[in-house]
Amino acid sequence: MYWADRVAKEIIDSGKFKPYWVDDMFTPSGYAHIGNLRGPLVHDLIYKALKRAGSDARFTFVINDFDPIDGLPEDLQKDFSKYLGFPLKKAPSPKEDFASFGDYFADDFKKVLASLEVKPRYYSSWDLYHEGKFDEAIKIALDNADKIQDIYQKVSGSKKKEAGWLPLQVICENCGRIGTTRVHDWDGETVAYTCEESLVKWAEGCGFEGRISPFGGNGKLPWKVDWPAHWMVIGVTVEGAGKDHSSAGGSRDIARELCKEVFHIDEPYDLPYEFFLIGGKKMASSKGLGLKARDFKQLLPPELARFLFSRTDYRQAVEFDPIGTMAIPDLFDEYDRCYKEKTFLPRFRDIVNYVQMPNVDVLKKYEEIKGGELTEVEINIINERIKYAKIWLEKYAPDEFKIQLSEVLPEKVKELTEDQKQFLKKSIDLIEKNNDPEDLQLALYNLTKELKIDAKKAFSAVYISLIGKEFGPKAAWFLLSYPKEEITKRLKEVIE
Ligand SMILES: [Zn+2]
Repeated sequence: MYWADRVAKEIIDSGKFKPYWVDDMFTPSGYAHIGNLRGPLVHDLIYKALKRAGSDARFTFVINDFDPIDGLPEDLQKDFSKYLGFPLKKAPSPKEDFASFGDYFADDFKKVLASLEVKPRYYSSWDLYHEGKFDEAIKIALDNADKIQDIYQKVSGSKKKEAGWLPLQVICENCGRIGTTRVHDWDGETVAYTCEESLVKWAEGCGFEGRISPFGGNGKLPWKVDWPAHWMVIGVTVEGAGKDHSSAGGSRDIARELCKEVFHIDEPYDLPYEFFLIGGKKMASSKGLGLKARDFKQLLPPELARFLFSRTDYRQAVEFDPIGTMAIPDLFDEYDRCYKEKTFLPRFRDIVNYVQMPNVDVLKKYEEIKGGELTEVEINIINERIKYAKIWLEKYAPDEFKIQLSEVLPEKVKELTEDQKQFLKKSIDLIEKNNDPEDLQLALYNLTKELKIDAKKAFSAVYISLIGKEFGPKAAWFLLSYPKEEITKRLKEVIE
Protein backbone atom coordinates (compact mmCIF):
# COMPACT_ATOMS: atom_id res chain seq x y z
CA MET A 1 0.00 0.00 0.00
CA TYR A 2 1.26 3.46 -0.89
CA TRP A 3 2.51 5.19 2.26
CA ALA A 4 0.19 8.21 2.03
CA ASP A 5 -2.82 5.90 1.59
CA ARG A 6 -1.68 3.91 4.62
CA VAL A 7 -1.49 7.11 6.71
CA ALA A 8 -4.90 8.26 5.46
CA LYS A 9 -6.37 4.88 6.36
CA GLU A 10 -4.85 5.09 9.82
CA ILE A 11 -6.33 8.56 10.30
CA ILE A 12 -9.77 7.45 9.12
CA ASP A 13 -9.77 4.12 10.98
CA SER A 14 -8.88 5.83 14.26
CA GLY A 15 -12.25 7.58 14.25
CA LYS A 16 -10.57 10.66 15.67
CA PHE A 17 -9.30 13.71 13.78
CA LYS A 18 -12.66 14.71 12.32
CA PRO A 19 -13.34 16.82 10.35
CA TYR A 20 -10.15 16.06 8.41
CA TRP A 21 -8.34 19.36 8.33
CA VAL A 22 -4.75 19.18 7.11
CA ASP A 23 -2.56 22.20 7.75
CA ASP A 24 1.04 23.28 7.42
CA MET A 25 2.95 26.54 7.75
CA PHE A 26 5.82 28.56 6.36
CA THR A 27 7.65 31.65 7.58
CA PRO A 28 8.39 33.92 4.59
CA SER A 29 11.66 35.39 5.84
CA GLY A 30 13.63 34.61 2.68
CA TYR A 31 13.57 32.33 -0.35
CA ALA A 32 12.53 28.82 0.59
CA HIS A 33 15.04 26.07 0.01
CA ILE A 34 14.27 22.74 -1.58
CA GLY A 35 14.18 21.21 1.90
CA ASN A 36 11.26 23.49 2.82
CA LEU A 37 9.17 21.73 0.18
CA ARG A 38 9.04 18.45 2.04
CA GLY A 39 6.46 19.67 4.59
CA PRO A 40 3.98 21.02 2.04
CA LEU A 41 4.40 17.92 -0.16
CA VAL A 42 3.91 15.49 2.74
CA HIS A 43 0.78 17.33 3.86
CA ASP A 44 -0.54 17.61 0.32
CA LEU A 45 -0.03 13.88 -0.27
CA ILE A 46 -1.91 13.04 2.94
CA TYR A 47 -4.67 15.49 2.05
CA LYS A 48 -5.06 13.93 -1.40
CA ALA A 49 -4.95 10.42 0.06
CA LEU A 50 -7.76 11.36 2.46
CA LYS A 51 -9.80 12.64 -0.48
CA ARG A 52 -8.98 9.51 -2.47
CA ALA A 53 -10.28 7.41 0.42
CA GLY A 54 -13.61 9.16 -0.07
CA SER A 55 -13.42 11.49 2.89
CA ASP A 56 -14.17 15.17 2.95
CA ALA A 57 -10.84 16.82 3.72
CA ARG A 58 -9.52 20.35 3.75
CA PHE A 59 -6.00 21.62 3.29
CA THR A 60 -4.84 24.98 4.57
CA PHE A 61 -1.47 26.60 4.86
CA VAL A 62 -0.54 29.34 7.29
CA ILE A 63 1.95 31.97 6.19
CA ASN A 64 3.66 33.15 9.39
CA ASP A 65 3.93 36.74 8.22
CA PHE A 66 3.42 38.22 11.70
CA ASP A 67 6.80 36.82 12.80
CA PRO A 68 9.68 39.24 13.24
CA ILE A 69 12.51 39.44 10.70
CA ASP A 70 15.29 37.73 12.67
CA GLY A 71 17.89 37.34 9.95
CA LEU A 72 18.42 38.40 6.36
CA PRO A 73 19.57 36.84 3.11
CA GLU A 74 23.05 38.13 2.32
CA ASP A 75 22.05 40.41 -0.53
CA LEU A 76 19.54 42.24 1.66
CA GLN A 77 21.75 42.80 4.68
CA LYS A 78 22.85 46.26 3.68
CA ASP A 79 19.46 47.78 2.95
CA PHE A 80 17.21 45.84 5.28
CA SER A 81 19.12 45.65 8.56
CA LYS A 82 17.04 48.54 9.86
CA TYR A 83 13.96 46.32 9.61
CA LEU A 84 15.31 43.52 11.81
CA GLY A 85 12.75 42.93 14.54
CA PHE A 86 9.86 44.25 12.42
CA PRO A 87 6.96 41.96 11.59
CA LEU A 88 7.50 40.44 8.12
CA LYS A 89 4.30 42.13 7.06
CA LYS A 90 5.54 45.59 8.07
CA ALA A 91 8.91 45.71 6.29
CA PRO A 92 8.94 46.79 2.62
CA SER A 93 9.25 44.30 -0.21
CA PRO A 94 12.71 43.76 -1.68
CA LYS A 95 11.13 43.83 -5.15
CA GLU A 96 8.43 45.99 -6.68
CA ASP A 97 4.78 44.95 -6.87
CA PHE A 98 4.51 43.51 -3.38
CA ALA A 99 3.06 45.16 -0.31
CA SER A 100 5.60 43.79 2.15
CA PHE A 101 8.71 41.74 2.79
CA GLY A 102 6.57 38.81 3.91
CA ASP A 103 4.23 39.10 0.90
CA TYR A 104 7.13 38.96 -1.52
CA PHE A 105 8.67 35.77 -0.15
CA ALA A 106 5.27 34.19 0.52
CA ASP A 107 4.25 34.80 -3.09
CA ASP A 108 7.47 33.26 -4.33
CA PHE A 109 6.89 30.15 -2.22
CA LYS A 110 3.22 29.87 -3.26
CA LYS A 111 4.24 29.94 -6.92
CA VAL A 112 6.71 27.10 -6.38
CA LEU A 113 4.05 25.06 -4.57
CA ALA A 114 1.48 25.73 -7.32
CA SER A 115 3.96 24.46 -9.92
CA LEU A 116 4.15 21.24 -7.91
CA GLU A 117 0.35 20.97 -7.82
CA VAL A 118 0.23 21.87 -4.13
CA LYS A 119 -2.72 24.22 -3.86
CA PRO A 120 -3.90 24.69 -0.28
CA ARG A 121 -6.07 27.53 0.96
CA TYR A 122 -3.67 30.09 2.38
CA TYR A 123 -4.07 31.98 5.62
CA SER A 124 -2.02 34.96 6.66
CA SER A 125 -1.09 34.83 10.32
CA TRP A 126 -1.03 38.65 10.33
CA ASP A 127 -4.63 38.71 9.05
CA LEU A 128 -5.86 36.05 11.48
CA TYR A 129 -4.49 38.05 14.44
CA HIS A 130 -5.75 41.37 13.07
CA GLU A 131 -9.22 39.97 12.44
CA GLY A 132 -9.35 39.04 16.12
CA LYS A 133 -9.40 35.30 15.42
CA PHE A 134 -6.60 34.74 17.96
CA ASP A 135 -8.10 36.95 20.70
CA GLU A 136 -9.57 34.05 22.63
CA ALA A 137 -6.33 32.06 22.38
CA ILE A 138 -4.33 35.09 23.53
CA LYS A 139 -6.60 35.51 26.56
CA ILE A 140 -6.27 31.82 27.45
CA ALA A 141 -2.49 31.99 27.08
CA LEU A 142 -2.15 35.14 29.20
CA ASP A 143 -4.45 33.74 31.89
CA ASN A 144 -2.34 30.57 31.94
CA ALA A 145 1.10 32.16 31.68
CA ASP A 146 2.42 30.40 34.80
CA LYS A 147 1.10 27.04 33.68
CA ILE A 148 2.70 27.54 30.25
CA GLN A 149 6.06 28.30 31.86
CA ASP A 150 5.68 25.18 34.01
CA ILE A 151 5.04 23.12 30.87
CA TYR A 152 8.11 24.60 29.12
CA GLN A 153 10.20 23.67 32.16
CA LYS A 154 8.72 20.22 32.65
CA VAL A 155 8.84 19.19 28.99
CA SER A 156 12.02 20.77 27.69
CA GLY A 157 13.92 21.37 30.92
CA SER A 158 14.29 25.03 29.97
CA LYS A 159 15.69 27.66 32.26
CA LYS A 160 14.09 28.53 35.58
CA LYS A 161 10.93 30.52 35.81
CA GLU A 162 11.00 34.23 35.09
CA ALA A 163 8.71 36.24 37.37
CA GLY A 164 5.92 38.02 35.54
CA TRP A 165 6.74 36.44 32.15
CA LEU A 166 3.90 36.49 29.64
CA PRO A 167 3.66 34.43 26.44
CA LEU A 168 3.20 37.39 24.11
CA GLN A 169 5.07 40.01 22.13
CA VAL A 170 3.44 43.26 21.06
CA ILE A 171 4.38 45.68 18.29
CA CYS A 172 6.23 48.64 19.83
CA GLU A 173 4.12 51.77 19.26
CA ASN A 174 7.26 53.85 19.03
CA CYS A 175 9.58 51.96 16.68
CA GLY A 176 7.33 49.30 15.10
CA ARG A 177 9.40 46.28 16.15
CA ILE A 178 7.83 43.16 17.59
CA GLY A 179 10.95 41.04 18.13
CA THR A 180 12.31 43.34 20.84
CA THR A 181 9.36 43.74 23.22
CA ARG A 182 9.06 42.10 26.64
CA VAL A 183 5.51 41.97 27.91
CA HIS A 184 4.37 41.89 31.55
CA ASP A 185 1.54 42.83 33.88
CA TRP A 186 -1.62 41.43 32.28
CA ASP A 187 -4.60 43.06 34.01
CA GLY A 188 -7.30 41.30 32.04
CA GLU A 189 -7.58 44.07 29.45
CA THR A 190 -4.12 45.40 28.72
CA VAL A 191 -0.47 44.43 29.09
CA ALA A 192 2.56 46.56 29.88
CA TYR A 193 5.64 46.25 27.68
CA THR A 194 9.19 47.47 27.28
CA CYS A 195 10.99 47.64 23.93
CA GLU A 196 14.35 46.34 25.12
CA GLU A 197 17.67 47.22 23.63
CA SER A 198 19.20 43.79 24.08
CA LEU A 199 16.36 41.30 24.40
CA VAL A 200 17.60 39.55 21.26
CA LYS A 201 20.96 39.50 19.51
CA TRP A 202 19.63 40.18 16.01
CA ALA A 203 17.70 43.41 16.69
CA GLU A 204 17.87 46.43 18.95
CA GLY A 205 14.78 47.83 20.69
CA CYS A 206 14.16 51.55 21.24
CA GLY A 207 13.63 51.55 25.01
CA PHE A 208 9.99 52.65 24.81
CA GLU A 209 7.64 51.59 27.60
CA GLY A 210 3.92 51.43 27.10
CA ARG A 211 0.62 49.75 27.85
CA ILE A 212 -1.64 48.26 25.21
CA SER A 213 -4.44 45.79 24.55
CA PRO A 214 -2.93 42.43 23.54
CA PHE A 215 -5.81 41.80 21.11
CA GLY A 216 -6.75 42.56 17.51
CA GLY A 217 -3.27 42.29 16.05
CA ASN A 218 -1.40 44.36 18.64
CA GLY A 219 0.52 41.30 19.73
CA LYS A 220 1.43 37.75 18.79
CA LEU A 221 1.99 34.54 20.73
CA PRO A 222 5.49 33.08 20.71
CA TRP A 223 5.85 30.29 18.16
CA LYS A 224 5.68 27.39 20.62
CA VAL A 225 2.30 28.68 21.88
CA ASP A 226 1.14 30.03 18.54
CA TRP A 227 1.40 26.56 16.98
CA PRO A 228 -1.18 24.80 19.21
CA ALA A 229 -3.20 28.05 19.40
CA HIS A 230 -3.62 28.07 15.63
CA TRP A 231 -4.78 24.44 15.74
CA MET A 232 -7.55 25.65 18.05
CA VAL A 233 -8.32 28.81 16.04
CA ILE A 234 -8.48 27.08 12.64
CA GLY A 235 -9.66 23.65 13.78
CA VAL A 236 -6.67 21.73 12.46
CA THR A 237 -6.77 17.94 12.93
CA VAL A 238 -3.74 16.81 10.90
CA GLU A 239 -0.44 18.65 11.09
CA GLY A 240 3.17 17.56 11.44
CA ALA A 241 6.54 19.24 11.25
CA GLY A 242 10.11 18.29 10.51
CA LYS A 243 11.52 15.76 12.91
CA ASP A 244 13.78 18.39 14.49
CA HIS A 245 10.62 19.77 16.10
CA SER A 246 9.58 16.30 17.18
CA SER A 247 12.58 15.32 19.30
CA ALA A 248 11.98 14.62 22.98
CA GLY A 249 11.31 17.88 24.81
CA GLY A 250 10.94 19.74 21.50
CA SER A 251 8.20 22.06 20.32
CA ARG A 252 5.84 19.20 19.43
CA ASP A 253 6.00 17.80 22.96
CA ILE A 254 5.30 21.28 24.33
CA ALA A 255 2.43 21.79 21.88
CA ARG A 256 0.92 18.45 22.93
CA GLU A 257 0.93 19.48 26.61
CA LEU A 258 -0.49 22.90 25.75
CA CYS A 259 -3.36 21.23 23.84
CA LYS A 260 -4.15 19.10 26.85
CA GLU A 261 -3.55 21.48 29.75
CA VAL A 262 -4.17 24.97 28.35
CA PHE A 263 -6.26 25.03 25.16
CA HIS A 264 -8.25 21.85 25.91
CA ILE A 265 -8.28 20.54 22.36
CA ASP A 266 -7.27 17.21 20.88
CA GLU A 267 -3.78 17.18 19.43
CA PRO A 268 -3.79 16.89 15.62
CA TYR A 269 -2.49 13.72 13.96
CA ASP A 270 1.27 14.06 13.85
CA LEU A 271 3.53 13.66 10.82
CA PRO A 272 7.11 13.99 12.06
CA TYR A 273 8.73 13.93 8.67
CA GLU A 274 12.40 13.28 7.98
CA PHE A 275 14.77 15.68 6.33
CA PHE A 276 15.52 16.34 2.74
CA LEU A 277 19.22 15.73 2.25
CA ILE A 278 21.35 17.11 -0.53
CA GLY A 279 24.42 14.94 -0.76
CA GLY A 280 23.88 13.83 2.84
CA LYS A 281 23.49 17.32 4.25
CA LYS A 282 20.31 18.62 5.78
CA MET A 283 18.87 21.47 3.78
CA ALA A 284 18.36 24.48 5.98
CA SER A 285 17.42 27.87 4.60
CA SER A 286 19.45 29.67 7.25
CA LYS A 287 22.70 28.06 6.14
CA GLY A 288 22.17 29.10 2.55
CA LEU A 289 23.24 25.61 1.58
CA GLY A 290 22.08 24.04 -1.63
CA LEU A 291 19.27 24.88 -3.94
CA LYS A 292 16.47 27.36 -3.66
CA ALA A 293 12.97 25.96 -4.06
CA ARG A 294 12.31 28.49 -6.84
CA ASP A 295 15.25 27.00 -8.83
CA PHE A 296 13.76 23.53 -8.66
CA LYS A 297 11.79 23.99 -11.86
CA GLN A 298 15.05 24.58 -13.68
CA LEU A 299 16.37 21.28 -12.37
CA LEU A 300 13.44 18.94 -12.97
CA PRO A 301 10.04 18.99 -14.66
CA PRO A 302 7.31 19.54 -12.01
CA GLU A 303 6.00 15.97 -12.15
CA LEU A 304 9.50 14.61 -11.51
CA ALA A 305 10.06 17.07 -8.67
CA ARG A 306 6.79 15.95 -7.11
CA PHE A 307 7.75 12.32 -7.63
CA LEU A 308 11.02 12.90 -5.80
CA PHE A 309 9.01 13.67 -2.66
CA SER A 310 6.04 11.39 -3.13
CA ARG A 311 7.98 8.17 -3.69
CA THR A 312 9.51 8.26 -0.19
CA ASP A 313 7.62 7.57 3.04
CA TYR A 314 7.67 10.71 5.20
CA ARG A 315 9.52 8.77 7.91
CA GLN A 316 12.53 8.29 5.65
CA ALA A 317 15.00 10.93 4.60
CA VAL A 318 14.91 11.97 0.95
CA GLU A 319 18.46 11.96 -0.33
CA PHE A 320 19.16 13.79 -3.50
CA ASP A 321 22.56 14.74 -4.79
CA PRO A 322 22.14 16.05 -8.33
CA ILE A 323 25.54 17.63 -8.87
CA GLY A 324 28.07 15.55 -10.78
CA THR A 325 26.06 12.36 -10.27
CA MET A 326 23.51 10.18 -12.05
CA ALA A 327 20.77 11.14 -9.54
CA ILE A 328 18.67 12.94 -12.15
CA PRO A 329 18.79 10.24 -14.90
CA ASP A 330 18.14 7.63 -12.18
CA LEU A 331 15.12 9.59 -10.97
CA PHE A 332 13.76 9.71 -14.53
CA ASP A 333 14.24 5.95 -14.89
CA GLU A 334 12.43 5.30 -11.63
CA TYR A 335 9.64 7.68 -12.59
CA ASP A 336 9.23 5.88 -15.92
CA ARG A 337 9.07 2.54 -14.14
CA CYS A 338 6.32 3.77 -11.80
CA TYR A 339 4.38 5.59 -14.51
CA LYS A 340 1.07 3.81 -14.94
CA GLU A 341 -0.36 5.39 -18.05
CA LYS A 342 0.27 4.02 -21.49
CA THR A 343 2.12 7.00 -22.92
CA PHE A 344 5.49 6.33 -24.45
CA LEU A 345 8.27 7.76 -22.29
CA PRO A 346 11.61 8.24 -24.05
CA ARG A 347 14.46 7.28 -21.78
CA PHE A 348 16.17 10.37 -20.39
CA ARG A 349 19.63 8.88 -20.91
CA ASP A 350 18.92 8.30 -24.63
CA ILE A 351 17.76 11.87 -25.02
CA VAL A 352 20.95 13.00 -23.31
CA ASN A 353 22.90 11.20 -26.03
CA TYR A 354 20.76 12.42 -28.91
CA VAL A 355 20.85 16.07 -27.92
CA GLN A 356 24.62 15.93 -28.06
CA MET A 357 24.63 14.80 -31.66
CA PRO A 358 24.42 17.88 -33.84
CA ASN A 359 22.86 16.15 -36.85
CA VAL A 360 20.19 14.29 -34.93
CA ASP A 361 16.68 15.69 -34.86
CA VAL A 362 15.39 14.09 -31.69
CA LEU A 363 11.72 14.24 -32.66
CA LYS A 364 12.45 12.67 -36.05
CA LYS A 365 14.55 10.06 -34.31
CA TYR A 366 11.57 9.02 -32.16
CA GLU A 367 9.29 9.04 -35.18
CA GLU A 368 11.66 6.53 -36.77
CA ILE A 369 11.76 4.44 -33.59
CA LYS A 370 7.99 4.48 -33.35
CA GLY A 371 7.52 3.93 -37.08
CA GLY A 372 4.81 6.55 -37.30
CA GLU A 373 3.75 10.02 -36.33
CA LEU A 374 4.13 11.07 -32.72
CA THR A 375 1.10 12.23 -30.77
CA GLU A 376 0.97 15.71 -29.28
CA VAL A 377 1.45 14.26 -25.79
CA GLU A 378 4.53 12.36 -26.93
CA ILE A 379 5.96 15.45 -28.62
CA ASN A 380 5.47 17.46 -25.44
CA ILE A 381 7.15 14.85 -23.30
CA ILE A 382 10.10 14.54 -25.68
CA ASN A 383 10.51 18.31 -25.87
CA GLU A 384 10.35 18.61 -22.10
CA ARG A 385 13.01 15.94 -21.70
CA ILE A 386 15.19 17.60 -24.32
CA LYS A 387 15.01 20.79 -22.28
CA TYR A 388 16.00 19.07 -19.04
CA ALA A 389 18.64 16.90 -20.72
CA LYS A 390 20.36 20.07 -21.93
CA ILE A 391 20.20 21.60 -18.46
CA TRP A 392 21.53 18.41 -16.93
CA LEU A 393 24.43 18.27 -19.35
CA GLU A 394 25.28 21.90 -18.83
CA LYS A 395 25.05 22.05 -15.05
CA TYR A 396 24.93 18.68 -13.35
CA ALA A 397 26.18 15.79 -15.47
CA PRO A 398 29.42 13.99 -14.61
CA ASP A 399 32.09 14.85 -17.17
CA GLU A 400 32.07 11.41 -18.78
CA PHE A 401 28.51 12.06 -19.95
CA LYS A 402 29.34 15.06 -21.98
CA ILE A 403 29.92 13.66 -25.40
CA GLN A 404 30.96 16.26 -27.85
CA LEU A 405 33.59 16.12 -30.49
CA SER A 406 36.55 17.64 -28.68
CA GLU A 407 37.89 20.83 -30.16
CA VAL A 408 41.49 19.71 -30.09
CA LEU A 409 43.10 16.31 -30.47
CA PRO A 410 42.67 14.53 -27.14
CA GLU A 411 45.87 13.78 -25.18
CA LYS A 412 44.70 10.21 -24.78
CA VAL A 413 45.30 9.36 -28.47
CA LYS A 414 48.98 8.89 -27.58
CA GLU A 415 47.93 5.71 -25.78
CA LEU A 416 46.40 4.11 -28.88
CA THR A 417 48.00 0.86 -30.02
CA GLU A 418 48.95 0.00 -33.60
CA ASP A 419 45.93 -2.35 -33.78
CA GLN A 420 43.63 0.44 -32.82
CA LYS A 421 45.17 2.85 -35.31
CA GLN A 422 44.83 0.25 -38.03
CA PHE A 423 41.14 -0.04 -37.18
CA LEU A 424 40.70 3.74 -37.37
CA LYS A 425 42.52 3.90 -40.70
CA LYS A 426 40.23 1.32 -42.28
CA SER A 427 37.16 2.92 -40.66
CA ILE A 428 37.68 6.10 -42.65
CA ASP A 429 36.71 4.33 -45.87
CA LEU A 430 33.62 2.82 -44.25
CA ILE A 431 32.50 6.19 -42.90
CA GLU A 432 32.88 7.74 -46.35
CA LYS A 433 30.89 4.95 -48.00
CA ASN A 434 28.01 4.56 -45.52
CA ASN A 435 25.20 7.01 -44.81
CA ASP A 436 22.98 4.76 -42.79
CA PRO A 437 24.03 4.32 -39.14
CA GLU A 438 22.79 0.71 -38.99
CA ASP A 439 24.88 -0.21 -42.04
CA LEU A 440 27.91 1.65 -40.77
CA GLN A 441 27.67 0.05 -37.33
CA LEU A 442 27.57 -3.41 -38.92
CA ALA A 443 30.46 -2.57 -41.25
CA LEU A 444 32.58 -1.35 -38.32
CA TYR A 445 31.76 -4.50 -36.42
CA ASN A 446 32.73 -6.69 -39.37
CA LEU A 447 35.97 -4.76 -39.63
CA THR A 448 36.90 -5.77 -36.08
CA LYS A 449 36.44 -9.42 -37.14
CA GLU A 450 38.49 -8.92 -40.23
CA LEU A 451 41.34 -7.29 -38.30
CA LYS A 452 40.94 -9.76 -35.42
CA ILE A 453 40.81 -6.91 -32.96
CA ASP A 454 38.71 -6.95 -29.82
CA ALA A 455 35.52 -4.98 -30.64
CA LYS A 456 35.53 -3.10 -27.33
CA LYS A 457 39.11 -2.03 -27.88
CA ALA A 458 38.35 -1.01 -31.44
CA PHE A 459 35.35 1.13 -30.58
CA SER A 460 37.14 2.73 -27.66
CA ALA A 461 39.74 3.93 -30.19
CA VAL A 462 36.92 5.82 -31.93
CA TYR A 463 35.77 7.44 -28.69
CA ILE A 464 39.28 8.32 -27.59
CA SER A 465 39.95 9.99 -30.93
CA LEU A 466 36.75 12.00 -30.99
CA ILE A 467 35.85 12.77 -27.38
CA GLY A 468 38.91 11.74 -25.38
CA LYS A 469 36.99 9.08 -23.47
CA GLU A 470 37.06 5.31 -23.61
CA PHE A 471 33.37 4.93 -24.14
CA GLY A 472 30.51 6.88 -25.66
CA PRO A 473 27.20 6.58 -27.45
CA LYS A 474 26.62 4.08 -30.28
CA ALA A 475 29.59 4.72 -32.55
CA ALA A 476 27.97 4.85 -35.99
CA TRP A 477 25.18 7.21 -34.90
CA PHE A 478 27.69 9.47 -33.26
CA LEU A 479 30.04 9.42 -36.26
CA LEU A 480 27.25 10.24 -38.69
CA SER A 481 25.91 13.03 -36.52
CA TYR A 482 28.83 15.21 -37.56
CA PRO A 483 29.83 16.35 -41.05
CA LYS A 484 31.87 13.49 -42.51
CA GLU A 485 34.85 15.66 -43.43
CA GLU A 486 35.16 16.78 -39.80
CA ILE A 487 35.27 13.19 -38.58
CA THR A 488 37.64 11.85 -41.22
CA LYS A 489 39.96 14.82 -40.76
CA ARG A 490 40.15 14.00 -37.07
CA LEU A 491 40.81 10.31 -37.66
CA LYS A 492 43.55 11.08 -40.17
CA GLU A 493 45.17 13.34 -37.61
CA VAL A 494 45.13 10.50 -35.09
CA ILE A 495 46.76 7.90 -37.31
CA GLU A 496 49.48 10.15 -38.68
ZN1 LIG B 1 10.53 50.16 20.15
